Amino acid sequence: MDKFETYEKMGIERCVFDYCERIAEKLKERFYTIDETAERNQLKVLHAFRKNQVQEACMMGTSGYGYNDIGRDTLEKVYADIFHAEDALVRPQITCGTHALALALMSNLRPGDRILSASGRPYDTLEEVIGIRDSLGSLKEYGIGYDEAPLLPDGGFDFGKIRDSLKPKTRLIAIQRSKGYSDRRTFSTRQIGECIDFLRSLRDDLIIMVDNCYGEFVEDIEPTDVGADMAVGSLIKNPGGGLAPIGGYIAGKKECIENAAVRLTSPGLGREVGASLGMMRDFYQGLFLSPTVTASALKGAIFAANIYESLGYYVLPDGSEDRYDIIQSVTFNDPEALMSFCRGIQAASPVDSHVRPEPWDMPGYDSKVIMAAGSFISGSSIELSADGPLREPYAVYFQGGLTWPHAKFGIINTLQHLVNDELIDRSLFK
Ligand SMILES: *Cc1c(COP(=O)(O)O)cnc(C)c1O
Repeated sequence: MDKFETYEKMGIERCVFDYCERIAEKLKERFYTIDETAERNQLKVLHAFRKNQVQEACMMGTSGYGYNDIGRDTLEKVYADIFHAEDALVRPQITCGTHALALALMSNLRPGDRILSASGRPYDTLEEVIGIRDSLGSLKEYGIGYDEAPLLPDGGFDFGKIRDSLKPKTRLIAIQRSKGYSDRRTFSTRQIGECIDFLRSLRDDLIIMVDNCYGEFVEDIEPTDVGADMAVGSLIKNPGGGLAPIGGYIAGKKECIENAAVRLTSPGLGREVGASLGMMRDFYQGLFLSPTVTASALKGAIFAANIYESLGYYVLPDGSEDRYDIIQSVTFNDPEALMSFCRGIQAASPVDSHVRPEPWDMPGYDSKVIMAAGSFISGSSIELSADGPLREPYAVYFQGGLTWPHAKFGIINTLQHLVNDELIDRSLFK
């Protein structure tokens, strides 16, 4: 059967299909280099599995206190090896990325200490963790201070401002790798390394924490390879490979991980408790698949960038630049187009494809957000998903795709939705 017919059955019209196919054709060489990175990361993961003798018993779960949980303890060694870190904490009891970051901060800081964000304003949900926006239980309530070094206009680290913002009480530096919901570029691991080297040249007593959300396995090195004391992330993003149903991780210095463990459970108990329940097989298998799943998501992001850029929209990153996370933003300057895009993603999803997303007041965010998430794991953003805050400039943040063919169809379907809603004119495809 002609390939178009399979698309036609899915509601895609000829001009949209042909336009997208022409763009996909041009990306083949680029995709080859992504596959090369996936290959290196696949072997890095497999090496850690072999070194730690991951075995059938690791797939079983424990219950109750979870003492001597070989699956959990081995998985943490596997993570530590992948990150070339001394240690790691990887648990279903870490409920999400925000929790993992909050845990890393709360456990490694004491009253009177200060945090310095070296990458400007942090991700929305961290504002309440830190107390930038007043919130019950924030670090601010515990007497932990906060300073911020804004980025340069070009999105780079402002080393002068970072130096000037260091205070005697500054104890921890937070660096966010991914742009999140902001209009800047994502940092490469190399750039993060330069910032860390600079900080170390000024002070040798700083804890450097990198919010690694969406960055795992995009490059063949991670922030802990360039000197970070902690890399922190969510298992319902890249490293869960779409299979982990919950969880977060912290990989880094032994002392930092120990602090996090006693805070996660209890002083005296630390990492010895925490049953893995039935999660382990999904954690291992998801981690094993993560390099190729991340590659699929990256291909989808690049495909989307090239399509919307060619239609005249502002896209970040642009169609040709290097990638350091899986997020793609497209700026519509129009709430209707933002919503139409998200509805196109939703309709292309394997779960809840019949659901029409509406903007809502999401906990932790300060404006309404529209989300398209027809995922197997609720809220998983390594699966094909899109979201955008309903505020100027009405940019959509698109990410994920467990397979490249699915990511590709999802993006083609967004374009079809924009055409159907008369927000993009067919004459543009000529
Ligand atoms: C997703 C994300 C978080 C928060 O993770 P959740 O799992 O949504 O709580 C933090 N920082 C960045 C950069 C993120 O992308």
